[in-house]
Amino acid sequence: MAILMAGGAGYIGSHVCKMLYEKGYEVIVYDNLSHGFKNFVKWGEFVPGDISDEKLLDNIFKNYEIDAVMHFCAYIEVGESVIDPQKYYINNVESTLILLKTMLKNGIKKFIFSSTAAVYGLPEKIPIKEDDPKQPINPYGKSKWMIEQILEDYDKAYGLRSIRFRYFNAAGADESGEIGEAHKPETHLIPLIFDAALGVRENIKIFGTDYDTRDGTCIRDFIHVNDLADAHIKGLEYLLSGEGTNYFNLGSGEGYSVKEVIEKVKEITKRDFEVIETDRRPGDPPYLIADSEKASKVLGWKPKYDLNMIIETAWNWHKKLRRIDR
Ligand code: UDP
Repeated sequence: MAILMAGGAGYIGSHVCKMLYEKGYEVIVYDNLSHGFKNFVKWGEFVPGDISDEKLLDNIFKNYEIDAVMHFCAYIEVGESVIDPQKYYINNVESTLILLKTMLKNGIKKFIFSSTAAVYGLPEKIPIKEDDPKQPINPYGKSKWMIEQILEDYDKAYGLRSIRFRYFNAAGADESGEIGEAHKPETHLIPLIFDAALGVRENIKIFGTDYDTRDGTCIRDFIHVNDLADAHIKGLEYLLSGEGTNYFNLGSGEGYSVKEVIEKVKEITKRDFEVIETDRRPGDPPYLIADSEKASKVLGWKPKYDLNMIIETAWNWHKKLRRIDR
């Protein structure tokens, strides 16, 4: 079985590549390295390229017998998507449509798509279930929800079977310490706290301490990247067994506040650093917690890592990060 991993050189994609490879799948990593890392491509063959390059994709689909495509390439910064929505709609929507078009042209009809909790916008109730209202509040979330809806239409019209995974807060790193969480630029909470712990940043800023939550800071559901990878394997097996299109939340079901995460990092790293309370970041919902019962019932998926393990594995990798060019 050969899987094309679009965006396989990124944080989540590379962890899924490793797990697929270890399970005996043939892995082809397709990535333009705009946000991915060449040294994350350790499992499978690397083909540099962009998902908007129809000709190159066509060649790949003709030269390799691809059974399914997993798609991780997207711009993911909420704030930037508000300032420059065109960038998001062109990459996350238009380029994805080219990828899908080229798949269909070559008769490839199994697709796994990285979606996000951002499709829910400001949730009306917690924990969030898959069929709760989708009211994304920024172009990033909208771009993901657009593709989700398009995938429903493509299923009906063309028989394209897809799984959409709505990730909550992906975090942690592979236990080997070979790959971990890195983004260009880094905007995510846990890596930024580590940078403060390492003295690479002067401090960590808390965006908003006046939310209606237990300590005034936002509550998030952190899910280990290898738990996400495991869900992708299960989703793939589900599609390969002939099951149809489906969509799942992927979260731990546990919520931790920004302050609690900072305290936990201090405890695990045994380092102290300055914490500054600042204004809210626009577009942050106070609570995002997943109900992942559906993934458990349908796919038999259960997260294995808790917040301690997430921070320990992430720290283990992040300490070495400075050797990696980003
Ligand atoms: N956050 C923060 N300081 C930072 C980065 C993030 O207080 O330097 C907060 C952010 O406002 C949100 C939570 O941490 O409430 C998680 O943010 P992140 O960007 O990691 O993920 P998101 O929830 O946006 O997907």
